[in-house]
Amino acid sequence: NQNIKSYFGAGPSKIPNEVLKEVQDEMLNFDSTDVSILEVSHRSKNFENVVNSTVNLVKDLMKVPDNYKVILLQGGGNGQFAGVPLNLLNTTGKADYIVTGAWSEKAFKEGKKYGAVNSVFQTSKTYTGIPPQDNWVLDPEASYLYYCDNETIDGVEFDFIPKTRDNVPLVCDMSSNILSRVFDVSKFGVVFAGAQKNIGCAGITLVLVRDDLIGKRVFSFEDFKYGVRSCVHLTYDVVHPSKSTRIYVLNKVLKWVKENGGVENMEKMAIEKSSMIYKVIDDSKGFYYSHIKKNSRSRMNITFRVGGPTGDEALEKKFLEEAAAEGLLALKGHRSVGGVRASLYNAVTVNDAIRLRDFMKNFMNKQ
Ligand code: PMP
Repeated sequence: NQNIKSYFGAGPSKIPNEVLKEVQDEMLNFDSTDVSILEVSHRSKNFENVVNSTVNLVKDLMKVPDNYKVILLQGGGNGQFAGVPLNLLNTTGKADYIVTGAWSEKAFKEGKKYGAVNSVFQTSKTYTGIPPQDNWVLDPEASYLYYCDNETIDGVEFDFIPKTRDNVPLVCDMSSNILSRVFDVSKFGVVFAGAQKNIGCAGITLVLVRDDLIGKRVFSFEDFKYGVRSCVHLTYDVVHPSKSTRIYVLNKVLKWVKENGGVENMEKMAIEKSSMIYKVIDDSKGFYYSHIKKNSRSRMNITFRVGGPTGDEALEKKFLEEAAAEGLLALKGHRSVGGVRASLYNAVTVNDAIRLRDFMKNFMNKQ
């Protein structure tokens, strides 16, 4: 039924309908203030309550230990590509990066502007999986070890937490899979996530940082050619003016996660939805083709070609057109890799995944 829409955008992406409806209902009168959330003062008690509630929900849903701060920043994931080295490249000026896709590659390149950053293995230009940890070369003097848990463009996701050496803090970009599986925060020095995939709308970044890593930066921002004073938005040891409507949306999405079975249930659904689509790919005898090694397949962003390993572009175009005509939207792969990408974030329902699965089967059978 083409009147039903399923939205598979990679980011910005689906926000739960229940949340959108609530935002709509409250738009003219936020928390009995007689003004909207877009207009209300960020210093008002009402808005302060939203910020505090958001931080508490994050702590609750992710079981954040007491020795971590939950920080809400501007600047998105890209902001943190600079924020991480600015705050952590402190003791040695060196850092290790695990490059498994386009986003960690970008972070690695950004990190190079600030210090001696090293890639722990030789990367090829196409990303299809994660080389075994035994083959990584880790620098014992690294200030941190950086990786991206889920590569949104390539569709590569870690199925393990990397081991660091000699208490080197682990830093993780979880922009596109945060709150989609249970993980032990205490294994990390810093976890960050732009909100616009799994937890809200664009323009707000969630950062969890271990207390002992705060305030250790040795650089003064004036030392930098890049960004100079505006970088104050990126520091972990400054109290941030959290005047963002996006925190309000984040707050509502976190409440929605809690009401819908918490992270445990999000994880269960992520496995159910993604397995459904990978099964169609695996049963298709190469008609649908995934380049990603099975143990690194993303549960969030399923990338595949139509018509064989290199893709038949005319057939892919037809696939996308017919999908859109059936209300299955935003399935085009990232322009750098082509093909199809189905993003199955938390707000994408099992029913959406079923609709996509059935469409894929029918499309194949018709050719
Ligand atoms: N990291 C990952 C894994 C991403 O998917 C993205 C955005 N697609 C970014 C970082 C960059 O985030 P932003 O657009 O918020 O700067």
